[in-house]
Amino acid sequence: MVQIVCIPAFKDNYIWLLRKGAMAAVIDPGAADPVLEVLDREGLSLAAILITHHHADHQGGVAGLLDRHQAEVIGPAAERITGITRRLHGGETITACEISFAVLAVPGHTLGHLAYYGAGCLFCGDTLFAGGCGRVFEGTPAQMAESLARLAGLPDDTAVYCAHEYTEANLRFALAVEPNNAVLRERAAEVAAARARGCATVPSTIGIEKASNPFLRCAEPEVIAAARSRGATAEDPVSVFSVLREWKNTF
Ligand code: ZN
Ligand code: FE
Repeated sequence: MVQIVCIPAFKDNYIWLLRKGAMAAVIDPGAADPVLEVLDREGLSLAAILITHHHADHQGGVAGLLDRHQAEVIGPAAERITGITRRLHGGETITACEISFAVLAVPGHTLGHLAYYGAGCLFCGDTLFAGGCGRVFEGTPAQMAESLARLAGLPDDTAVYCAHEYTEANLRFALAVEPNNAVLRERAAEVAAARARGCATVPSTIGIEKASNPFLRCAEPEVIAAARSRGATAEDPVSVFSVLREWKNTF
């Protein structure tokens, strides 16, 4: 059985470490020190580094890790990734800590953004967040909406390991979009309580996201109506998504 360890970094990043026996793999190490601390303390050797996209808070620790460990560096072919040894486009299968992961291309936040799906777990970087989604920096709203729809198509019990603790603010926005969503209201209360205790709110699940994340609910009447009230001129999911994303950018 693989173990998944949460390594907080910076103000609100999560670096996820997979551990199997004395072997480890890490996803999106924005910083090396907190990862090295865990590897040293637990006597683990790092075999693989998986990168979802090129932003510094997701790969800034790669060089520091490679100074101490001989790890494979796996990431998007289309982006500049420090020390990359395996370039992926999406559609491949890779193995880390004896788990095989399907590599999914999820452009939008960045053009080469990848997600890794295996053993019922999804590592999705800055594409899908608990209660929200990443900003559309390089792609188009249509690309991002399609990427999110792809992730929403995974089984409901898939554990969603995103790369930031943004849940509380995301759910405040979600409530502005869907004030009458009972599941969302309950979730927002649970998340606020967890944060007050200092607990992580990640992972969530695809089922929870489909029920309460407005960016996965662009076909719901209440979400469409909210987008209409913010200037959406059409009701197709991409138009609704675009308006929601713009609205969240300044919320
Ligand atoms: Zn990012
Ligand atoms: Fe990030």
